[in-house]
Amino acid sequence: MGCESCSGGSCDRDKTGLPPGMLSEYNLNQSPAEGSLVWIEVINDGNTIMMNDSSKEILGKLQEISDGRIFGVIFGDTELKVLYGEIFSYGVDTLYHIKDKKMIQFQPEVYCEMLVDLCNRVMPAVVLMGATPRGRELAPRLAASLGTGLTADCTELKMDGRFLQMTRPAFGGNIIATISCDHFPQMATVRPGTFPMPEPMIGREGTVIYRQYYGSNYKNIISSERIISVDYDITRAKILISLGNGIKEKESVAVAESIAKKLGGMVSCSRALVERGWFPQSRQVGQSGNNVFPDIYMAFGISGSIQHKAGIGPAKRVIAVNIDPEAPIHEIADISVIGNADSILKEMNKLL
Ligand SMILES: Cc1cc2nc3c(=O)[nH]c(=O)nc-3n(C[C@H](O)[C@H](O)[C@H](O)COP(=O)(O)OP(=O)(O)OC[C@H]3O[C@@H](n4cnc5c(N)ncnc54)[C@H](O)[C@@H]3O)c2cc1C
Repeated sequence: MGCESCSGGSCDRDKTGLPPGMLSEYNLNQSPAEGSLVWIEVINDGNTIMMNDSSKEILGKLQEISDGRIFGVIFGDTELKVLYGEIFSYGVDTLYHIKDKKMIQFQPEVYCEMLVDLCNRVMPAVVLMGATPRGRELAPRLAASLGTGLTADCTELKMDGRFLQMTRPAFGGNIIATISCDHFPQMATVRPGTFPMPEPMIGREGTVIYRQYYGSNYKNIISSERIISVDYDITRAKILISLGNGIKEKESVAVAESIAKKLGGMVSCSRALVERGWFPQSRQVGQSGNNVFPDIYMAFGISGSIQHKAGIGPAKRVIAVNIDPEAPIHEIADISVIGNADSILKEMNKLL
C-alpha cells in the first residue's frame, strides 16, 4: 500500500511512514560486530614459508559453520606474498598483512597491539587462532586487552548467526563443556588436528590490506634457537611411543626411536623425562605440553597423572606398559601390559 503523504502512488513507504528497511526503534546497545577474524600462523624459518596446518583447519571449520565474512591476519614482510593465493583458497575474504621485517619473528606484545587495533577497526564477532605454542601465548594477551573472554583448546565450534558455541574438554578430560561468551568478540583457540584439513578452493580471490606498526613495543631479540622442528611435530603423529619416569635406561630412548621409525610413528614423553633432560619440551604430552591425536598411544612407564591424561583425550587407542597394575593409566588403557618397560621396548624392537 502507498504512503499517505505522497500523491504519486509510487512511494513504497509502509504504514509506519518510514522508508523500507528503517526501524522505528533502534537498540543502540547492540554491538555491530560481524564476521570472523583468524590469526593465520605462518611457519617461516628462512627456508620454508608455509601456513600452519591449524590455521587451515580453523578456516575450513569456519566455512562449514558460518556465512559471515572471514578476515585473516598475517605478520611479516614481503616474503609472505607467496601465501596470499593459498590463504584465499582456504576461505579468507579480506587479508590484513601487517607488513614489517621485524614481524617475521614472533613478537607477542606487538602482534597483540596490532590485533587489538584491527579488532577495533573490523569489529569481528569471533576471533580464532590455533592452540599452538604461539597461539597459546597470544590469545590470552589479546582477550585481556580486548576485555573479553577466551575459551582455550576447543575441540568443537558451532555458530548460530554470529553467536559462537565453544566446546572443550574440562576437568582433565572428564567432562565436555560447551561455553558461550556474552561479549564481542567471542574468542577461542582450537586444538590442532581437531578439525579435518579442508580442500583448498584453487583460484579463489580476496582483498589484501596492508597495515603498519608505529608503536615501540618491539623486543630486541639477541639470539633465538628453534626447539620445535617443523618435521617432528608430535601433534600430527598417528602412532606415538611415549616414555615416562618408569624408563630407567637411557638406551631405551634410541630403542623407542627405532620402534617409532619401523611403525611410522614418533616418540613423545611425560614431563618427568623433560625434567630429566632426556627430551625437549616440544615432545612433552599433557596439560603443559602438547595435546596429541594419535590412532595409537603407547605409554611406557607413565603413571597416567591427570595432567598427562589431559593431553591424550582424543587418542583412539591407548596401550599402557607399566610395572604397577594399579597405575591410573590402566583406567583409560584399551590394552594393559604389566611388566618392565625397558625390557618390553627391547623385545618389541627385536620382534619388529
Ligand atoms: C601444573 C602442572 C602441569 C603438568 N603438566 C604435565 C604435562 O603436561 N605432562 C606430564 O606428563 N606431566 C605434567 N605434570 C606432571 C604430572 O603431575 C606428573 O608428575 C607426571 O606426569 C609424571 O610423569 P610419569 O608418569 O612419567 O612419572 P611417574 O608419576 O613417576 O610414574 C612412573 C610410572 O612408571 C611405572 N614404572 C616404574 N618402573 C617401571 C618399570 N621398570 N617398567 C614399567 N613401569 C614402571 C610406575 O609404576 C609409575 O606408574 C604437570 C604437573 C603440574 C602440577
